[in-house]
Amino acid sequence: MKNISILGSTGSIGVNTLDVIARNPSRFKVVALAAGRNLSLLKRQIDEFKPGIVCVIDDERADQLREMLEHCAAPGIVSGDSGYMEVASWEKTDMVVSAISGAAGLLPTISAIDAGKDIALANKETMVMAGELVIAMAANRGVKIIPVDSEHNAIFQCLRGHNKNEVKRLILTASGGPFLNLPLERFASISLDDALQHPNWEMGRKITIDSASMMNKGLEVIEAKWLFDMDIDKIDVCVHPQSIVHSMVEYVDGSVIAQMGLPDMRGPISYALSYPERLQGAVEALDLCSAGVLEFINPDYAKFPALELAYTVAGEGGSAPAVLNASNEVAVEAFVEGKIRFVDMALVVKEVLDSHRTKEINRIEDVLDADWWGRARAREIIEKRMIS
Ligand code: MG
Repeated sequence: MKNISILGSTGSIGVNTLDVIARNPSRFKVVALAAGRNLSLLKRQIDEFKPGIVCVIDDERADQLREMLEHCAAPGIVSGDSGYMEVASWEKTDMVVSAISGAAGLLPTISAIDAGKDIALANKETMVMAGELVIAMAANRGVKIIPVDSEHNAIFQCLRGHNKNEVKRLILTASGGPFLNLPLERFASISLDDALQHPNWEMGRKITIDSASMMNKGLEVIEAKWLFDMDIDKIDVCVHPQSIVHSMVEYVDGSVIAQMGLPDMRGPISYALSYPERLQGAVEALDLCSAGVLEFINPDYAKFPALELAYTVAGEGGSAPAVLNASNEVAVEAFVEGKIRFVDMALVVKEVLDSHRTKEINRIEDVLDADWWGRARAREIIEKRMIS
């Protein structure tokens, strides 16, 4: 029996993880849950999975949740930053599913590693912001980090049983999002609703918008660099609109190994939870003969400048990736609030990066400083744009 804690249980990855666990009750048990503001869903999860401890975003919601649970055998309820860290390092936990969205997932994930818990990593920001530190810390603590992000989970599978020195390059596939075939001149008038229509994957709002701008793929390039200890010039992106091939590894002899499946996050989640074993019937099997035509095309950097920004930043290293991520989070929020246009998001991030002097990252505080600086600078730039 593996005891699981889920950080971000009411989000898309959290809900899918609980579905996998519910269908495999003899293998997995939920011992701790952390959510944000969605108390009604969290309550249903508590009723069904009976965790020993749960965390919500603040004291007010913790009180509300206590009231909602008054008449049942309630778990321990904690809140805020210290609460998330408590859930992440809960003594009964064997594996932590790190699925809080955005930079907020970083510190809880680090607490889990520090406590020696294996990680099923869905929060890519942990790697983007602090990859070098986190990988070193995990090695030091003997912690396994298994990627849940579908592309990285695919590469993890394609690398298994092979010699890493024989890898020529990693090829991350990208769906291309809803604007793959939209002419460049129409990008200026993309609306929020347009950006929220992802063709293949059901995901949270932030990542759906990042997929539409391909910033998500940029973040994934940086994530891959650290997860697989790979030079950035050995990581390529290939647009594959059908999302059947989840990513590939090319070896020195010209062989390419691909991992395929229907686009269903329960696939990578199952693999991460049960690794090194595979779960029986985890997802519906892929029938390639009825999958239709599979296409592979080069990304269009003019339409998706965020991708190029991420490559530049990945090469630069230091504080630059944390600044990229922070300024992008602020820019996405501003787009959601109608303050800036879709195309302005990458422009804001670029302007922030142009005014950033890259610093070395030696401690987690350096990462938090870079994150703070990137956010403040992005807000300044957005305000200036709104006035002019
Ligand atoms: Mg992904």
